Amino acid sequence: MRMSNALIPTLRDNPADADTVSAQLLLRAGFIRKSAAGLYHYLPLGKRVLSKIETIVREEMDAFGGQELLMPIVQSADLWLQTGRWHAYGPEMFKVTDRHDRQFCLGPTHEELITDLVHSEVNSYRQLPLRLYQIQNKYRDEKRPRFGLIRSREFIMKDLYSFDRDPEGLDKAYWDMYQAYTNVFSRCGLKFRPIEADGGAIGDSQTHEFTALAEIGENTVVYCDHCGYAANIEIAPCPAPAPKSGEEAELALEKVYTPDSKTIEAVSAFLHVPADKTIKTLFFQADEELICVLVRGDREVNDVKVQRVHPCLALEMAEEDAVNKIVNGGFGSLGPVGLGNVKIYADLEVEQMTNLVCGANEAEYHYINVNPGRDFQVTGYYDLRMMTQEDPCPKCGQKTDSARGIEVGQVFKLGTKYSEALGATYLDENGKEQVMHMGCYGIGVSRTMAAAVEQYNDENGIVWPKSIAPYHVVIVPISAKDANQMAIAEQLYADLQKRGIEVMLDDRNERPGVKFKDADLIGYPIRVTVGKKAVEEQVVEYKLRTEADNEVVAVSDVVEKVVAYIFS
Ligand code: ATP
Ligand code: MG
Repeated sequence: MRMSNALIPTLRDNPADADTVSAQLLLRAGFIRKSAAGLYHYLPLGKRVLSKIETIVREEMDAFGGQELLMPIVQSADLWLQTGRWHAYGPEMFKVTDRHDRQFCLGPTHEELITDLVHSEVNSYRQLPLRLYQIQNKYRDEKRPRFGLIRSREFIMKDLYSFDRDPEGLDKAYWDMYQAYTNVFSRCGLKFRPIEADGGAIGDSQTHEFTALAEIGENTVVYCDHCGYAANIEIAPCPAPAPKSGEEAELALEKVYTPDSKTIEAVSAFLHVPADKTIKTLFFQADEELICVLVRGDREVNDVKVQRVHPCLALEMAEEDAVNKIVNGGFGSLGPVGLGNVKIYADLEVEQMTNLVCGANEAEYHYINVNPGRDFQVTGYYDLRMMTQEDPCPKCGQKTDSARGIEVGQVFKLGTKYSEALGATYLDENGKEQVMHMGCYGIGVSRTMAAAVEQYNDENGIVWPKSIAPYHVVIVPISAKDANQMAIAEQLYADLQKRGIEVMLDDRNERPGVKFKDADLIGYPIRVTVGKKAVEEQVVEYKLRTEADNEVVAVSDVVEKVVAYIFS
């Protein structure tokens, strides 16, 4: 490709609403353009990177027995009603109505469609196992589209679905995909970790998230370098607390005036008690119901754990207005004493506390000397808090570490949830009808592109891993007007392409500084500069994007050098 013909609209400054490095750089370097919130154009450079990632994904899916197909994006409501997800999926689903008033959605995922297809086309054990996949746009009306391609409303996903005769077959499919995903993300050059994750509403289903390590990631990964344990903090279990010693006698409950003390910090400062002698009282809206959750004052609630003990479709922090219908004190003085019929779920640590401090459900008042069991009753005590750095590894007891990460893929055992709902059965060797065992496996292709930029950049721009770079090398003639320089550049351009190298020739009539800046911003792995010395001494400058310095290389050697680097 010649730069003079290319649509690569680079920008001098960061667009105002680009909220992450990857969004800024992909926009500035001319890979993407925003069309509307969470909706992006992939410009020619961006499309090339996507295609590279897709090729890697295809090769790995095919290597593990995947067969590619393509299903409709527009899906009839009927199947979703059968699995109960038409309503359960919630406001993230883009719903559309056709001219006959029939309802459809733009597929956020394809379990319903593929299961229905397999139900229609597969009926014998001889046709199993099957691994079917597609690479396609998905639609989710995210509450907060952000981070450019990382949380968009239209995005590209590879989704594979496995169909097996029995749980053993599913287990094999699961671990095959786990390996395929490891290969995909390694080949894309990402720094990542597969982590144990939340099986969600489907119960204790086995699942791993593949997480690209990055500070802006929305996931917290807890890992242990001693035993290899790695999990999403959402599911990391906290140890049971030590039972109370009984040394501290229970004192009489007392209501005290606590002006301007609306936070745990303020209350503990005002009353001179440590935060671990207070409790945090939080209200959640669990579908239609308001529930109360208690953790020690210095702890954070883990809402995935809450949703496990109180299954519901949507769990969100309650609005103050809703809470005020039950208690009158407002958010700064909530507590579990005298809550009536509200379900109270308390963390295991709360049960072991004596003479604690909590809000009195009356503005500016708190209780002191509160004792669980005596002063309030709970629906149950469970592990409901977020793990911390002080908590030991749940597997080996050693110290853990944590990191932030972006979920780029997920493998998930579905079991028979969808096959039962949609009748995906087969006849076994004895002519007996059996339900298929399914798994689903997603990779965010467009998110992977952004995650790579999040990991590989410097102050000058993107530093693409060579496997997914839009071009391998850029040739920069110092002066496009110099016919001799251009002749050498053109010859290299042709010779490199003959060897399978993807080349951009920056033939623009621009100052060298401008071309170098663009080359760095775009992030080509190699830059070859053709200047005066190319004409006079037959040498060019060879520079890797990852290195600060360049090397002087004979014109006659440069093709081999590029080929060796790119294909090594
Ligand atoms: P998240 O928890 O980030 O919302 P998810 O668990 O809902 O993601 P899956 O249903 O597992 O996502 O989808 C498979 C993959 O699709 C994810 O691992 C992720 O890489 C990608 N993905 C999901 N939602 C988005 C989005 N809004 N924008 C871009 N990629 C996405
Ligand atoms: Mg997921």
